[in-house]
Amino acid sequence: GTAQIGVTGLAVMGRNLARNFARNGLTVAVHNRTAAKTRALVEEFGEEGRFVPTESAEEFVAALERPRRLVVMVKAGEPTDAVIQEFAPLLEEGDVIIDGGNAHFEDTRRRERELRERGIHFVGAGVSGGEEGALHGPSIMPGGSAESYESLGPLLEKIAAKAPDGTPCVTHVGPDGAGHFVKMVHNGIEYADMQLIAEAYHLLRTVAGYSPAKIAKTFRGWNTGRLDSYLIEITAEVLAHEDAATGKPFVDVVQDRAEQKGTGRWTVQIALDLGVPVSGIAEAVFARSLSGHAELREASGALAGPVPEPLDEKAAEAFAAQVEQALYASKIVSYTQGFHQIRAGSEQYEWGVDLGSVAAIWRAGCIIRAAFLDRIRAAFDAEPDLVSLLSDKRFGEEIGAAQEDWRAVVVAATRQGVPVPGFSAALAYYDALRAERLPAALTQGQRDFFGAHTYRRVDREGSFHTLWGGDRTEVEAG
Ligand code: NDP
Repeated sequence: GTAQIGVTGLAVMGRNLARNFARNGLTVAVHNRTAAKTRALVEEFGEEGRFVPTESAEEFVAALERPRRLVVMVKAGEPTDAVIQEFAPLLEEGDVIIDGGNAHFEDTRRRERELRERGIHFVGAGVSGGEEGALHGPSIMPGGSAESYESLGPLLEKIAAKAPDGTPCVTHVGPDGAGHFVKMVHNGIEYADMQLIAEAYHLLRTVAGYSPAKIAKTFRGWNTGRLDSYLIEITAEVLAHEDAATGKPFVDVVQDRAEQKGTGRWTVQIALDLGVPVSGIAEAVFARSLSGHAELREASGALAGPVPEPLDEKAAEAFAAQVEQALYASKIVSYTQGFHQIRAGSEQYEWGVDLGSVAAIWRAGCIIRAAFLDRIRAAFDAEPDLVSLLSDKRFGEEIGAAQEDWRAVVVAATRQGVPVPGFSAALAYYDALRAERLPAALTQGQRDFFGAHTYRRVDREGSFHTLWGGDRTEVEAG
């Protein structure tokens, strides 16, 4: 075979990735279960580069140069296993299967183990950026063996997005499931970013009394500063959009029930297993679930509470500036939590993930791309063992400078009855980290009282139990 890479699964993502490889000068073998899609791709885009259309698995595998590199871009879950089962028997030692779908990292770990036993490299690669990213340059998060990255890395670097400093947004994240794990947390952070932006919108709409068009303008202003990011940019576009049928703001004709495909939920489930507090991401996932429960809201419409009273123009402007501070501070907390989760996963599975490199490959191509990520990269590069992003001097100072306005926004929201689960969970996290003493000491006392769960003392080593049901003396526990 002569194709340097192959792509099987030619729905939107696979088709665009294949075109991206071809446009970058690679010879690309293409394959799809339903062959009509393969033919359509070559008919429509054949002149963009060198495609080798194939109709059977055997033909596809034969079209590839060795070691073979096959990108699988099919529906995540069982279809991915079915495709692996189909191709693995046709491959030889040293060949590489790349799963670019949104697989759960535990599935990736299993597949990697099974294929490794057969001498085949399995690379679970997170791909972010949607269909546009796949075509023009995604952020790519490949896991798997270091050896597989040697042969694959240079090809991925060609098609990946380029950060403002020109570096490709792809790196060898770590062994087996590391890439899909990092992609999962990326999506969790994406949920949190979206929720925080939604809360800012809600406050500007109800407390500041701004129209969607005015909020779009405000966001465009923010997008020239430290909040400069793809999500703020597209939010302004969505808010400025008018519905053609009614002439109303688009955002007013869309049902207010957010849907989800599951990667945010996975992030929170895994965070619970790892014991990592990702409260911002969790609130974002729950906010979507809550919005979907129309019956709860219908049954609760009569509950008492304040009706927001919009501020006058001058006060509204001052308030908008405070909301920018609250949004930025809460965003720092989301990223702090997300990077904590990646570090915890990396330790649990011994992946050796470099957090600075993760921040670096999120600078372009992916949904959470933002100017901000270059500063996160710099913080972890300067101090790879940084315990928390909040312990970085610059981020610490910035969030400290924002905290008064942030509190004022949470107070105003609470007073006016506007739900801000993201802003307030982030603030609670911040204050918990600052606290000299947490009420967890009392929790330990309660646990010891009803369950003899024991506690540790501040002044002596060892575990202790108080005889709560007896004379309340303290005994040393085994
Ligand atoms: P879909 O998830 O809609 O999957 C459709 C593709 O899967 C088709 O090529 C289909 O073949 C193939 N397929 C389904 N079942 C089987 C099977 N049993 N055997 C063989 N092939 C099968 O496509 P997308 O392009 O949207 O996404 C591809 C992957 O990329 C998914 O894992 C998705 O989660 C992930 N992803 C998607 C993003 C997006 O924005 N859409 C962004 C990032 C990742 P056929 O034509 O024959 O039906």
